[in-house]
Amino acid sequence: MHSDCLFCKIAGNEMGTEFIHETAELVVFKDIKPLAPVHLLIVPKRHIRGINDLVDDDRAIISELILTARDMAKKMGVERSGYRIFFNVEKGGGQEVFHLHLHLIGGWE
Ligand SMILES: [Zn+2]
Repeated sequence: MHSDCLFCKIAGNEMGTEFIHETAELVVFKDIKPLAPVHLLIVPKRHIRGINDLVDDDRAIISELILTARDMAKKMGVERSGYRIFFNVEKGGGQEVFHLHLHLIGGWE
């Protein structure tokens, strides 16, 4: 837990954020600046700064993030209409919060 990290605070339930889904390892909540009708963030509870900071032992959590994205697409009803999942990496790649998170966007007409 990094006390100055927004997503550590959210995952630690310090911000009153409504979770769409929660497991022992991760939380899912809505992006506050949505880029699409459906825009979820899938966030490990453990602080990992970003993709460049992953180590081999992180294979399990990365798998869980992606499988959770699949489940959340179904839950939000966009699994057949289509969606995108992506990581922004470092400032130049659009990363704004330096705590690993997977975006899921979809729900366009
Ligand atoms: Zn964090």
